[in-house]
Amino acid sequence: MSNRAEGSGVARAALERRRADVAARVDSLRRELDAVQRLRSQNSDDDEHDPEGATTSQLWSQSSGLLADAERELSELDAALSRIAAGDYGICRQCGGRISSERLEARPAAALCIDCARRQGR
Ligand SMILES: [Zn+2]
Repeated sequence: MSNRAEGSGVARAALERRRADVAARVDSLRRELDAVQRLRSQNSDDDEHDPEGATTSQLWSQSSGLLADAERELSELDAALSRIAAGDYGICRQCGGRISSERLEARPAAALCIDCARRQGR
């Protein structure tokens, strides 16, 4: 019976695809934030009440929020990949029960079963 090994192979492929997507998003958000920062430092030489200033700081907080989300997801994906390597992928970190395959399909990086995730409000 190789069900278990096949299952984790599929999960690893999904995680690695997802990780590549998220890593690309982290890269492009970092570049975007760099550009916004350059724009802001240029603007601060001019008028502090420049309406452009408000726009760039809005852009800044929006992009840095997205970057924080993407970085969090990236570390979740890395943790899931190392759980696959350790052989305890799909096991709830909280209660030690099995995480359902439906949940893992929807959220391959899930570290908690649906019950524990609900209890934690995630
Ligand atoms: Zn659990």
